[in-house]
Amino acid sequence: MDVRDGIVDSIGNTPLIKLKRASEATGCTILGKAEFLNPGQSVKDRPARQIILEAEKRGEIEPGGLVVEGTAGNTGIGLALVANARGYRTVIVIPDTQSQEKKDMLRLAGAELIEVPAVTYANPNNYQHVARRLADRLRESEPNGVLFADQWNNLDNRKAHFLTTGPEIWSQTGGRIDGFICAVGTGGTLAGTSLYLKEKNPRIRIGCADPRGAAMYSLFTTGEAKASEGGSITEGIGLGRVTPIIEDITVDTAYLIEDSEAIPVVFDLLQHEGLCLGGSSGVNVAGAIRLAKEMGPGHTIVTILCDYGTRYQSKLFNPQFLRSRNLPVPDWLERRTEIDI
Ligand code: PMP
Repeated sequence: MDVRDGIVDSIGNTPLIKLKRASEATGCTILGKAEFLNPGQSVKDRPARQIILEAEKRGEIEPGGLVVEGTAGNTGIGLALVANARGYRTVIVIPDTQSQEKKDMLRLAGAELIEVPAVTYANPNNYQHVARRLADRLRESEPNGVLFADQWNNLDNRKAHFLTTGPEIWSQTGGRIDGFICAVGTGGTLAGTSLYLKEKNPRIRIGCADPRGAAMYSLFTTGEAKASEGGSITEGIGLGRVTPIIEDITVDTAYLIEDSEAIPVVFDLLQHEGLCLGGSSGVNVAGAIRLAKEMGPGHTIVTILCDYGTRYQSKLFNPQFLRSRNLPVPDWLERRTEIDI
């Protein structure tokens, strides 16, 4: 029998998909790791599982206990699903700017959702600080334990990718991989995957694709974490500081990817390859195309297809929203049927 033991055992082992047009345009083989096929439809199912299972092993939480996290949404969805399967409750603190679809999914999964105004990390009312304080307070009255997932500082986040994403990519490419690139939210994916791949072959070129408003482009090109001007409509990526997860990793090259470069890639992948993805996947694939051009034809480059596009129907795929941000609206997005019945 080929059977998985619940959703916890169904996370990972995602396909590696050849991206046709990106490969043809560069003469390279550009491959996307299909993380949107995880049970929670994003790459964050992997750290969600790792963080909960490691906390169980350490005895920090037991059935009936509470999982608390501050998240742009995807980590929360992964945590809520794994928590349901393991017998925990979930409290999620989310900035109110995140897509309605992610908030709806969190409530659907049974998470208690606390929406807070989106303010910078320096502000004590930032969602990450609110979540930490809330976890500390709830710990006093929870008999079965409170796990603060703490994805920006918790090394179990990157361990998930060191133990699963990295080895899967290595084995799926048969070790024939020349470059790996992705954007940074917490950096768990970039750090865990790159640490594994560099251990296997130090010549694999590691790249970081950074959206506007984040500091990783500056960090990996100058050594100083200085946020770039402006912002991005992408969600779940855009780190502004050095965290324990990324402080010791080697990144060989970094690119600043504008929304005007990333969003058309998302539309192109949906219209021509049937891949329905969120904005961060556009940043990643645009970054993979840049890395392919830098390395030259004949190389194999892997990136991450982070989450499923329907999660952003009200924003990224909404003509009105796109126009309000001065982003191009593809004709097909507004097409209505002309067939009479
Ligand atoms: N894309 C999306 C849509 C995400 O939600 C996240 C996680 N915040 C990422 C990319 C980045 O992943 P990581 O936290 O591993 O850097």
